[in-house]
Amino acid sequence: MVYNFNAGPSILPKEVFEAAAAAVLNYNNSGLSILEYGHRTPAFEAIMQEARQLMKELMNLDNDHEVLFLHGGASTHFMQVPMNLLDIKDTAAFTDTGVWAAKAINEAKLFGKAEIVCSSKEKNYTYLPKDFAVPNDAKYLHITTNNTIYGTQWQKIPITSNSIVADMSSDILSRELNFNAFDLIYAGAQKNIGAAGVTIVVVNKNILGKIKRYIPTMMDYRNHIADGSMLNTPPVFAVYTCMLTLRWLKKQGGVKEIEKINNQKAEMLYAEIDRNSLFKGTVQKEDRSKMNVTFVMNDPTKEASFLQFATQKNIMGIKGHRSVGGFRASLYNAMPLSSVAYLVSLMQEFESINN
Ligand SMILES: *Cc1c(COP(=O)(O)O)cnc(C)c1O
Repeated sequence: MVYNFNAGPSILPKEVFEAAAAAVLNYNNSGLSILEYGHRTPAFEAIMQEARQLMKELMNLDNDHEVLFLHGGASTHFMQVPMNLLDIKDTAAFTDTGVWAAKAINEAKLFGKAEIVCSSKEKNYTYLPKDFAVPNDAKYLHITTNNTIYGTQWQKIPITSNSIVADMSSDILSRELNFNAFDLIYAGAQKNIGAAGVTIVVVNKNILGKIKRYIPTMMDYRNHIADGSMLNTPPVFAVYTCMLTLRWLKKQGGVKEIEKINNQKAEMLYAEIDRNSLFKGTVQKEDRSKMNVTFVMNDPTKEASFLQFATQKNIMGIKGHRSVGGFRASLYNAMPLSSVAYLVSLMQEFESINN
């Protein structure tokens, strides 16, 4: 058995792999592979419908919020969001909390004004700035709810009277939030929801259509809403894997139940990082992410040796991002508590060998 701690694409539930694999060979005893299914068939329309419905149910969305399954990755929404929401003279406010946030800021500048209301860049994004004001006239405040690379996560979503837009790529459906409080949420599916190739957008339809710019057909969220995410050929297989994962999540008891396990996993690993004489965390404690746990060794010369030790014991994907170094263990929804316990036992074993 391999323990996959990759940051994305990442671990999914085993039963999702099994059902997806079976569907590639023969979808629902139809004699056809899911890969050769037409997207306008009743069978696929039912999959899309169920995936959308499960998202609405799991997130407790009201009728103003629409769920879209789109191409292009979260990165496309760095530009698509301002293209839809910001006129050239308008301002959007940004929290500069990591590489992904910075990319969103740069893209927004192509369509309007991007005002950075806070930044932790000077400390290599190791904390989340809490003391900032959002200009009243800002069309929206953009936040990255979980900073995948640095391992920080807003434990409390900043309170503002402005509209909130969130990049939720790496913690969507991992914890209970009032999702209706967000006017737009976007997330690449490949971290917590399904296969790479599809991006989820949750948008309050009332915020659309308020700007003067001409928006190209494929970029206009309203067109995707009108066509039920089938404006062109959707990524059929990727949407199918999302639907399977959402079914699995519902069976686990939904976001509320998975959050309890996510809390236990994170507590277990951080407790070991704080206890173990060889390791230390990289970010301010109150901002620690429950999805991407970043840590280094007190003696950096031992890092290569721990990585090799862990790899030999079938741990995969814990090498930290190059901008942080050390290690990053991603504990997405599908990661069982027992796998985290196993990683912890290896850290203890390594400590005893190295002391
Ligand atoms: C992975 C990630 C992205 C990039 O997603 P793509 O789908 O590859 O464009 C953006 N934001 C965050 C927070 C991420 O974790």
